Amino acid sequence: MKRISVFLLCIVTVIGLLAAGCGSADNKPAQSAQADTAADIKAIKDRGVLKVGVKVDVPKFGFKDPQTNKIDGLEIDIARAVAKKILGDPTKIDVQGVTAKTRGPLLDNGEVDLVIATFTITEERKQSYNFSDPYFKDGVAMMVKKSSGIEAVKDMNGKKIGVAQSATSRKALQEEADKAGVKVQFLEFGTYPEIKTALDSGRIDVFSVDGSILAGYLDDSTTILKDRFAPQEYGVASKKSNAALAKAVNEVIADMKKNGELDKLVQKWGIK
Ligand code: GLU
Repeated sequence: MKRISVFLLCIVTVIGLLAAGCGSADNKPAQSAQADTAADIKAIKDRGVLKVGVKVDVPKFGFKDPQTNKIDGLEIDIARAVAKKILGDPTKIDVQGVTAKTRGPLLDNGEVDLVIATFTITEERKQSYNFSDPYFKDGVAMMVKKSSGIEAVKDMNGKKIGVAQSATSRKALQEEADKAGVKVQFLEFGTYPEIKTALDSGRIDVFSVDGSILAGYLDDSTTILKDRFAPQEYGVASKKSNAALAKAVNEVIADMKKNGELDKLVQKWGIK
């Protein structure tokens, strides 16, 4: 009888030890998220290239030159800095054009490792993605035809506002319209060239998005109104589970801020 209970005790102890072993194995990803060998970083290293979603229709931030087909801008330079840190080579980036609507889903399905695409950090978006500390701060602005006579939100009663799908602009402008007591109507578009075309053709009266995005669409017939609202801080986004990658990106942004590299790039691209 005694022998049996000793035997049972041994079995229980062995099972206990095994369970404890499994427990620590389960904790491993969290621990190694600190290290360079974390699964998310390793996958990028094994692939040898960092996949980044960038804008292709935002001059100076992420823009595809129709002549050369080359995509360039501040956000591509930031992508290069991250590639340099992770892969030791700033040229090892594979950029893909995204819009406000497609950037989240492309992160979700792993098509891109990072989104560096005028992506405003919001509490709601932080529930779904990791965001780095901000690398740029902007505000929502409005572009109108000079001939429209519109000078501020108070002049927009009954007007049509063009905004990008899934952008922060609509909510921000609606709040301003409510404050000013004016009724506006929104039309949503996929890309910025489409919104500018709609403004030129008179389909909409106002083109609203961040001031720095609008600046790329300014021409002789249009003006950007003075008002700015709803601060927009841009962050580099990654999939929530890619904690080590998010940490590495944040280190790059922090370094670039500290050593003046970020300021230099903003100047290089003539961003105001
Ligand atoms: N920055 C704003 C946003 O994240 C404007 C839209 C855009 O980035 O294209 O919603």
